[in-house]
Parts: sequence; structure tokens; C-alpha cells
Amino acid sequence: MSSQHTTVRVALTDKPYDVVIAQGLLSQAGELSAVALNPCRCAVVTDDVVGPLHASTLLESLMMAGFTPHLVTIPSGEASKSMTVASQLCDQLIGLGLDRKSVLFALGGGVVGDLAGFVASIHFRGIPVIQVPTTVVAQVDSAIGGKTGVNSPLGKNLIGSFHQPKLVIADTHLLSTLPANIFREGLAEAIKHAVIADADLLSLLPPDQGSDLSEFIARNVAIKARVVTVDEFETKGMRALLNFGHTIGHAVESVAGYGAYSHGEAVAIGMIAALDLSVRLAGLSQDQAQRVESAITACGLPTSIPASVGTEELLAALGRDKKFDQGAIRFVLTSSLGSAYVCNQLTLGDVTAAIDGLRV
Ligand code: NAD
Repeated sequence: MSSQHTTVRVALTDKPYDVVIAQGLLSQAGELSAVALNPCRCAVVTDDVVGPLHASTLLESLMMAGFTPHLVTIPSGEASKSMTVASQLCDQLIGLGLDRKSVLFALGGGVVGDLAGFVASIHFRGIPVIQVPTTVVAQVDSAIGGKTGVNSPLGKNLIGSFHQPKLVIADTHLLSTLPANIFREGLAEAIKHAVIADADLLSLLPPDQGSDLSEFIARNVAIKARVVTVDEFETKGMRALLNFGHTIGHAVESVAGYGAYSHGEAVAIGMIAALDLSVRLAGLSQDQAQRVESAITACGLPTSIPASVGTEELLAALGRDKKFDQGAIRFVLTSSLGSAYVCNQLTLGDVTAAIDGLRV
């Protein structure tokens, strides 16, 4: 096993697990997994982009460690996060003879991780899942914390479960095959981590895609692991801090039309608005806000929206009519980089000004 790997413990009382991070870790996945659970019949769920690039290394390593793996491939892309695909996957696993003693490996980005995690949570009323994340988003965020699920035609991530993985294997070398735009959009979540928990992380941004990214990924994993450990089920307010930049980000995504901005780009724009609100309402210094904005720009992410993305439409997407009066619009703000809090005291005027500030 590599002596260079970093292990971050997700210290949940009843189901703790490790996130192991290193360059080239995939070829040791079997060995690592055999420590977490007994070798058994298993399925590697992946998508049709990641599979041809990386599945053979994982399958070989699993076989060497005594597992009996079957490869199951889904189409790449968000459309696969559906009840239809989840149901087909369940049938495929039953057909392959996977029973309650089996395990799933999720080899892919957030789509594969959320879908396979969800299927693992319902297959024979729950079997273990080992997450093998292959995108920046998945390595720093979605593979850790146990949120699994699929989309409904009525909205994203509306169907799901909490199902913590037994182990997360983050091979940072896998990020080298990501298209540059997908690599960059994942950096939005790292910028968010820097704002809410680790201001020094900004000095590592933007990382070079071709370099050894283990330290960068491990710093992010440590933040996500800490948050999840304190607030596993998003009931204590801590996990909500991970929504920094996401409130207006989601509105931008939906008003501009899904696909106009990637999720990471929309979150970057949302973070600019959240920084503006933080300066005006939480006492964040202009210098600190500028530092984050510079990081966003350096990562190749947008900081503004065109006039065609209207203020009225964005306010409607935020649920203005129903929510502002009851103080139910909750924004994550920061008074000083490296810390954040949830604020529900914002007025319609505050949010309108922050949105108007996003115009070029
Ligand atoms: P994704 O899984 O769709 O991957 C993006 C694209 O990159 C896909 O086309 C995929 O085939 C390709 N790809 C993946 N790894 C690759 C590699 N190593 N080399 C080449 N191509 C590769 O997208 P994503 O950004 O990883 O995840 C987005 C999903 O994650 C969304 O559905 C979102 O809701 C979810 N998410 C979940 C959580 C959570 O806590 N569960 C957190 C954040 C996001």
C-alpha cells in the first residue's frame, strides 16, 4: 500500500469510516476494501465515460483481493439520476446474484455516487457502498456524508436516503482525465470550503490539474468530514453552512435554464452575491471579499450575470412571495473568512441589491 496516502476519519459514533486519499490509489482499492469488509460478490457501478477510462484498474484490484466483481454501466450525465435508472439497476443487481451480503462500488462523479449510494440503501433493505469518486465535486463533497438520491421530474434530489459509505477511496490521479471545464467547476465547492472553514485554502487555488492534488483534496475532505460528523442529518445547522453561495446559485441555475450555467458556475455567481451581502450585513471586509472574488476568477468561474437573467425572475425562484415575510429565506453569510453562519434576517431589499450587484 502507498506510504503516501492521507486518511481522514469521518468520526460518526455508530458508523465511522475513512476517506483515503492519494495519487494512484485505485490499484490498491481491493486491498483497502478488504480491510473495511470481507471480500464478497460485488458490483462496480460506473458510467459510460468513466468506465472505459478507469474500471479495469478497479476490477483487477478487487479480484486480486478476493472480491468477485461485476461491472454495471449507466449512461453518463444527470439524467441517469432517476427512479427509472435506480429501478433498472436494482433488477440488474438481483439478476447478477447480488444479495444482502454483497457490496456496491460507486466509481464515478456525483451522479454515479448519489445513484449507486441510493440503490445500495434499498437493495435487500441496505447493503454497504464504497465510494470511489472521480470528479472534484465527488472527491471534496458528494462522496462524503451519506446523502444519496435521485431526481424527481418535480425537482432535483427530492428522493433519497442517508446511507453512509463503508469507505471512500479518492485517487487524485483520476482527476487528470477530467475535461478542463468539469475540473474547474468542481473548484467552486473548494472555494466555498475556504470561505466557511479554512481561509488558507485560498492560497492553494487554483490547483494545476496535472499536479499532485492529494493535499488540496485532503484539506477539503477534512472540512466536509468535520461538518458531517457534527451534523450527520442536517438538523443542527452546521451542514447548512455548506450552502454558502447555493441559494442564489440555485436560482441562477433555474432562471437561466438548466444547462446555461453548470452547477459550479452558478454557485460561483451565488458566492459573489453572498459575499456582497456579507460585506453589507455581516461586517466582512472588502479586502477579504475581494480575495475570494479573485480566487473565483482565477479558477475560470464567472462572477456576473447578463441582463437577460432578470432580478424579478430570480426573486421569484427564491420564493420571494411565500418566504421573505416569514424570515424563511436563509442565507449563509461570513463575517470573516474561515467561518460562517446562517442568517434569516435578510430583507427583500438586501437580496435585490445583491442580485443587482451581479450585473456586468
Ligand atoms: P457527474 O457525475 O455528472 O460527472 C461529470 C462528468 O464527468 C460526467 O460526464 C462524467 O461521466 C465525467 N467524469 C467523471 N469522472 C471523470 C474522470 N475521472 N475522467 C473523465 N470524465 C469523468 O457530475 P459531478 O459534478 O461529479 O456530480 C454532480 C452530481 O453530484 C449532481 O447530481 C449533484 O446533485 C450531486 N451532488 C451530491 C452531493 C451529495 O452530498 N450527495 C453533493 C454535491 C453534489
